[in-house]
This record gives sequence, C-alpha cells and structure tokens, in this order.
Amino acid sequence: MDTISFIKKYADHPKYMSPVGTKLNTRSWQTEAPLRMFLNNLNVEVAEDPKNLIVYGGSGKAARDLDSARKIIEMLLKLNNDESLLVQSGKPVGIVRTHEQAPRVLIANSNLVPAWANWEHYEKLRKNGLIMFGQMTAGSWIYIGTQGILQGTYETFSSCADKHFNGSLRGKLLVSGGLGGMGGAQPLAATMNGATFLGADIDPERIEKRLKTKYIDRMTYSYEEAKKWIIEAKNKKENLSVGLVSDIGDLLENLINDNIIPEILTDQTSAHDPINGYVPSGLKLEEAIQLRKENQIKYKDLSLKSMARHVNLMLKLKSLGSITFDYGNNLREFAKQGGAEDAFNFNGFVPEYIRPLFCEGKGPFRWVALSGDPKDIYTTDEALIKAFPNNKNLRTWLTQAAEKIKFQGLPSRICWLGMGEREKAGLIFNDLVREGKISAPIVIGRDHLDCGSVASPYRETEGMLDGSDAISDWPLLNLMSNTAGGATWVSFHHGGGVGMGYSQHAGMVILVDGTNRAETCIKRVLHNDPALGIIRHSDAGYSDANENLKKFNLEI
Ligand code: NAD
Repeated sequence: MDTISFIKKYADHPKYMSPVGTKLNTRSWQTEAPLRMFLNNLNVEVAEDPKNLIVYGGSGKAARDLDSARKIIEMLLKLNNDESLLVQSGKPVGIVRTHEQAPRVLIANSNLVPAWANWEHYEKLRKNGLIMFGQMTAGSWIYIGTQGILQGTYETFSSCADKHFNGSLRGKLLVSGGLGGMGGAQPLAATMNGATFLGADIDPERIEKRLKTKYIDRMTYSYEEAKKWIIEAKNKKENLSVGLVSDIGDLLENLINDNIIPEILTDQTSAHDPINGYVPSGLKLEEAIQLRKENQIKYKDLSLKSMARHVNLMLKLKSLGSITFDYGNNLREFAKQGGAEDAFNFNGFVPEYIRPLFCEGKGPFRWVALSGDPKDIYTTDEALIKAFPNNKNLRTWLTQAAEKIKFQGLPSRICWLGMGEREKAGLIFNDLVREGKISAPIVIGRDHLDCGSVASPYRETEGMLDGSDAISDWPLLNLMSNTAGGATWVSFHHGGGVGMGYSQHAGMVILVDGTNRAETCIKRVLHNDPALGIIRHSDAGYSDANENLKKFNLEI
C-alpha cells in the first residue's frame, strides 16, 4: 500500500487505528512495531483526545501536530534496519545511520535547559510550534489505555491495605479526584481491593468513558445520591464505585460537613498543569475552557488558589483520620504556591508504598500483541502463571485481569515484575513467537515511572535516603544503557507526571519477534533496565537494594 492510501486507511485524522494481523506494512517488524504502537496510542479507544493528538495526562501528546504525525508514519513505512529515526518533541527531524541491533527510533520530548524549565517558557515555545509535552508514555508510544496504570494503582492500594488495614479494604471508603486517563483506574483498582470508592470529576465525559469500559459502576450529578449509594455500600461492605460530576474541593467540603471521613484519601486530577489540566473551583467546565484561551494568568491564579483550598481540605480530613497521600500529580507544590503553607504535610505514594518494590528492581512491565488478537495475550498470561508458580499476587492479578479488563486498542497486559523476572518473561515470550504459539510479534515496554528510569523529587525520588532526589544522571544512564543494549525505541522526556521543571525520565520498548536478534537484545535490555533500579537504590543506601545487588551479581 502506498503512503497516501495507508494514511487514509489508518490515520484519517482523528480516526487512528493500528494495522493488525501478520502482514507487514513496513520493511520489518522493527519498524512495524513503532508504527503500530504510534497509531495505537492515538486510537479513539486508547487516547483521551485524538482530535488534538492528546493521549493522556492533561496535554500529553503522541505527535506535535498533524503534519508531524503524518511524517512519522511516512518515515516509519520506509525506514531501513540500519537507520534510526530522530523525533524531537513529537516531530520527526532526521534519520541517522545505525545498525540492526540499535533502536529504530530515538525520541526526545519536552526537554528544556534547567534554568528555562518551567511552564511559562514551555508555553511560549509550544505556541510557536517548537515543542510538545510528551508526558511519559504518550510521546514514547507505549500507552495502553487505563489498564496501564490499573495494576500500579492496584499495587498501591493493596500496599496501603497491607500497611494500615490488615490487608483488606472491605468496608473502607476510598475517596479521590480525577477520573481521566490515569485517574480512571482508581475505581476499579479500589473495588478489586474490596473498597467502596467515591471519585469526583468535573468533566462528565470522563466518567462516562469509565462507565463504558466498566472501570466504574455508577455515575451521578447529585452529591446526595452519591452519598446515599456509598454509605449503603460501605455499611454492607460492598465494593461499589461511584463517579460524581463535581469539583473535588466541593466534594471534600460536603463530606466534612456531613462528617463522612474516608479511610483513604488521595487525588489524581491533572494538577501537574495548573493551566491546561486542573479546573479551578467555581467555574463550569465550559467557562474554564474559555478562560484558558482568554486569560491564562488569571486562570493560573484561580487554579493555584483552588488547589490550596483542595489540599487544605485534604489536610483537614487527614487530621480527622483519613490516610492521605499524594498520588504523583504535583498537587502539593502548586497548592503551596497558591497559599497552602502546610501542603507537604502528607507524603507521596512512592515513599509510602512503592519504594520497597523499586529496591527489588520491580516496576510496571507491560506488553502488547501486535497481531491485535486477544488470544495472544491470554497465551502470555498462562505462560507467566506457569513460569512463576509461587507468585500468588501475580496469579491473582493475571486471573482477575483476564476476566475484568476490557482491552482498549491493541490487546495488552501489564504486571509488575522485578530483576530476573523481566528477562525470563521476555525470553519466554520470544520462544512463544518463534514457535508460532503467538500469532505475531509482541512488544515489551514500561512506564517511565520505574525503579531506575526517573528523577522526580515530588514523586518517584521523593525523600531518597541520601538526599539525591533531584539528581537526573540516573535516568540518563538508564537511557544510555537501553540504547546501547538494543531496545527497539528509546525516549528521554521532561516534566512527565509532575509538570515542567519537576522531573526527567527515560523510556524503552523492545520488540519480541522470535528472532535470535531479539533474544540477544532481550538478554541485555531486560537485564540492564531493572538492574539500574537496584544500582540506583543501593547507591542511595537502601539495604534491600544492597542485598539485591549481591543476589544478582551487580556489585562492582
Ligand atoms: P487526565 O488529564 O486524563 O485527567 C485529569 C482529570 O482531572 C480530568 O478528567 C479532569 O476533568 C479532572 N479535573 C481537573 N480539575 C478538577 C477538579 N478541580 N475537580 C475534579 N476533577 C478535576 O490526567 P490523568 O492521565 O488521569 O493523570 C492525572 C494526574 O496524575 C496527572 O497530573 C498526571 O500527571 C498524574 N500521573 C500520575 C501517575 C501515577 O502513577 N500516580 C502516573 C501518570 C500521571
């Protein structure tokens, strides 16, 4: 098929979809894989707003603009296996000579020299068409819809249950804000842990999307109705989830007035971006959208003040007994800027619940069936359950996921795997492709939120033992290791999760096509990537990581 016909068929803006099946459109699976994943990121079932090329996380995009999107497709259709495509903030800018085991795409998104690294400067450049916000997996083409965050959220809530509630959230009320691309995983992760869930989102379309994909059970515009439902459910220890169309601050205020104190309280509104993400209280959604266009200074001011009110209400609930934690959206920092002096009086979720996993090299391992055939994913699920018979959590997760998760776009799966496990899984998958038990190649990737790939002092690296929170040499070393090791595409981004100036992080995706080339690359990349997590945490003084350093022969 020529480029024009291909674009008409698969990228007829805003109707994007990945080709499926075993027939190549490009010169090899090494280029077919990024092409399919780029188109999958923009698929209407996957992306939050494909019309604006936005995948998730406020304004996280897959390509800078329409011309860039089409050019990326055109380049991948003809790229050779001794070439690599350079993508600068969502725009393809060149091709360099490389070799068969090198990455086919090298991506840098949203990076700014530190003294210029703020939203104001970024906005000027964006308006001039020079830069794009890549979030974490939006601009690096490995977003897999809400499932991607579901397992991480499930892990976080179950760690919280282990730490505070003897391992179960039955009869406990969990309240949060934001039911968007990431936040939309909260209701299902909460009910999978047994909790009663109440979440607020100002945008009804976001809640409707969660209803359609069965991530949430009920939706209402009425606080009174939501209250009735959740109180009944909590009393019956029923794991019901309810989405209320409301400003989150208003919901928290109502709960305090009614003396309803949730056992667990967090938030996933798009607070990382006070202009194009968070919606200030007191404004209707349409009014907010209008004000964003007309007066960004006023908008930001209202936004920061609303976040201050929001966080002060969270602190009030904390003082009344709610286990309260920040869920990685930089809410505390912007609330502080808006006047909430004590905003940092609750912790982030990483030091509270995730860091021990990072010390084992664990993180969000994910894979996608390029065939488009759900059977391929079910085959991998079974293979992993067989390969890790003693991992009870993994089995529970994979069994529940196969039953409950509706695939969005290309079928995919996620689970947290650690050092040794990731390489083992990768090699098993490669054999399954080689033996024809999976109908086409798959790709393995991960979130940039991982053990060794990110510096983000208000999230993944908050409160490191040695104070090294802001040192971003680590994600750069991770990027270099994965490039040298032969990942199929690699990326380095700035600002993901917490916004401009607050994080730097690296991503990788590797093709599993049943070849010896893939096997060699898997052995390097899926070893090095989690190893970086153990090395980083051991260097910071974590004793668990030190033990793992010895266990996996990573000492020098
Ligand atoms: P999103 O933009 O898809 O959704 C955010 C939602 O918040 C939207 O639906 C919006 O309507 C809603 N919202 C905004 N202001 C509100 C208000 N005042 N009251 C109620 N609802 C409001 O973003 P997302 O992908 O869901 O990500 C949410 C946040 O989590 C972002 O800041 C993102 O950077 C961060 N994040 C966290 C993790 C993690 O692992 N914890 C990972 C990635 C991103």
